[in-house]
Formats: sequence, C-alpha cells, structure tokens
Amino acid sequence: MSSNLRIPKVCLYCNNNFIAQKMNTKYCSLKCAQRNYKQQQREKKLQKANKDYIKQTATKPIIQSNNNTIHKPYLTIKETCQLLNSSDSTIRKAIKDGRIQTIRIGKKHIIRRDDIEKMFLTS
Ligand SMILES: [Zn+2]
Repeated sequence: MSSNLRIPKVCLYCNNNFIAQKMNTKYCSLKCAQRNYKQQQREKKLQKANKDYIKQTATKPIIQSNNNTIHKPYLTIKETCQLLNSSDSTIRKAIKDGRIQTIRIGKKHIIRRDDIEKMFLTS
C-alpha cells in the first residue's frame, strides 16, 4: 500500500474530521485510539460486572428454596426457628417463659405467625 493515500475520515472517538493514510484508520490520532480502547475495556468490564450481578441475583433466591415459612399463618417450632434464625432451644425457652404463645396439637406446638409479629410491635 502506498502512503500517498489521503482519505477524509471522521474520528470514531472525537468526531473530528481528519485525513487518513490507510483505509482502516479509524481515529485521528494515537491518543484517540488509546482512549477509545480504554473506554471499550471499561465498558467490557462494566458489562461483565452487570452480567455477573444478574447471574448472582437470578440463581440466589431471596428466601431459601426449602423455606416457605414466611407465608404460612401457623408455624411449627422448627419453622419459627427458621423464620427468626434462632435455635430450637431459644424458641422453646421463649415458649416456656410465655413470650411466645402456642397452641398444642398433640405433642406439637403450633405458633401463630401473627403472635410473632406482635412481639416485635410490643417490644
Ligand atoms: Zn480523534
């Protein structure tokens, strides 16, 4: 290719008109080429970060998948533990102290979700 070529072009980075000496020149100067390159790298990074974020939030359920506890009106002790992220003995102690009201069905304690929510309102 001869270097006598003079092709009027518009810089893809700064939009300035310039005369290119090669067909595939896209930028008016090395500076613009470098800046454009940096910008592209930044955008790539951003896009990757976005993708990773979407991936993470899509695969991560807000509530653990085996835990439908949140929507139930009546809870077992086990479910109450999950809901409050407390240990079994903590819940049983609260029941013994009368801080959590339960209904006994057979040997099972049934706890009203409302009662647990009221605890937070009064405390
Ligand atoms: Zn330029």
